[in-house]
Amino acid sequence: MAVRATSLALLFFCAITLGSACAAERTGVAGPSTPAANNFPVASDIRLGGDDAQTRMVVDFNEKVDIRAFTLADPYRVVIDMPQVAFQFRPKTGETGRGLIKAFRFGLVMPGGSRIVIDIVRPVRIDKALVLEAANDQPARLVLDLTAIDREAFMRLAALEGRGLENRKTEPQSENKAGDPRPLIVIDPGHGGIDNGTKAATGEMEKTIVLEFCLMLRDKIEKIGKYRVVMTRTDDNFVALGDRVALARARQALLFISIHADALARGEGDAQGATVYTLSERPSDARAARLAEAENQADVIAGLDLSSEPKDVAGILIDLARRETKTFSVQFAQALVNSMKASARLHQNPLKSASFVVLKAPDVPSVLVELGFVSNKTDLKSLISTEWRERTADSIVQAVDTYFTTRLAVTGQD
Ligand SMILES: [Zn+2]
Repeated sequence: MAVRATSLALLFFCAITLGSACAAERTGVAGPSTPAANNFPVASDIRLGGDDAQTRMVVDFNEKVDIRAFTLADPYRVVIDMPQVAFQFRPKTGETGRGLIKAFRFGLVMPGGSRIVIDIVRPVRIDKALVLEAANDQPARLVLDLTAIDREAFMRLAALEGRGLENRKTEPQSENKAGDPRPLIVIDPGHGGIDNGTKAATGEMEKTIVLEFCLMLRDKIEKIGKYRVVMTRTDDNFVALGDRVALARARQALLFISIHADALARGEGDAQGATVYTLSERPSDARAARLAEAENQADVIAGLDLSSEPKDVAGILIDLARRETKTFSVQFAQALVNSMKASARLHQNPLKSASFVVLKAPDVPSVLVELGFVSNKTDLKSLISTEWRERTADSIVQAVDTYFTTRLAVTGQD
């Protein structure tokens, strides 16, 4: 490993003196030569150099890609957008940074679009963001140069950049599915793409666990034949929190079920079991508040510009709808807890509330289920077991059916 460490040090040096011939780099760490699935360009290595006044990031590609880099405030981030690429970095890449770069993550943000989101320690100016053609035995390289500036200058530059993600919001078509009167349920697997969610010590990721669980849940609900199901995502793609809510509203869903898996940080102790959350501006306890805060970070993690988000809609009609929606949400949450306690282990206080962005549709009863803790060994074993998933999904289906049977009887619909 000593040889590798030396060559890495040289690589940092080469990165900083980019442009000058550097023979040592040729003997350095070569990217994996395995071709990527679907022939997407491959990003094989990433290097950081510099200090907390100026920092450079260099990314090796097997071919030149087009990029767009911009900054975001609160928290300070630099975002690099590019066409879909296969990231083949070493494990744990991005967990620590250097100089102005605190950490970074990378992944899909939409089909055909990848992104690197860099958390920065203070406001910066992007001095350089370009991709060099492969030349002189060097691969194509993305070069990003950052210089520390003050907040005022940062905000001025951000305004000039005209930042924002213009085409991000593709409002789903409002659709009144003529001919199919069955209630529509939206199932929302948390996280996805660049946002991994929580992660077990052994590497299992929340985004994958909950997607697999939700696909099973969808099939089971559809199998009864009484309900239609739409998912907010069916693959490893990022979906913004607001878009998840917008989908449920546009499709006039009668129920929104968001599925997650929690984790306690090291030093926070151990906890296990499932918890069902409903929306409340007043969290049921401090832990619920922290959890909502963490779950609400999804858009920050993916490098979305939160300053352009629409503010909460106010109004007496919305308030009335909210009150009714809240009653239904709590009813469904109770049905869930009753049904799940027979099959899955529940947390000691399984019914909680906090201010989750994804539960904020004023007119769609919504709950968020934390299936368990990936930080707990027993829970993790359950979360990845087909048998446990079958049982737990069945209990959710049961709760769905109980809820609708009761609700439709009360409101006189059929
Ligand atoms: Zn989550």
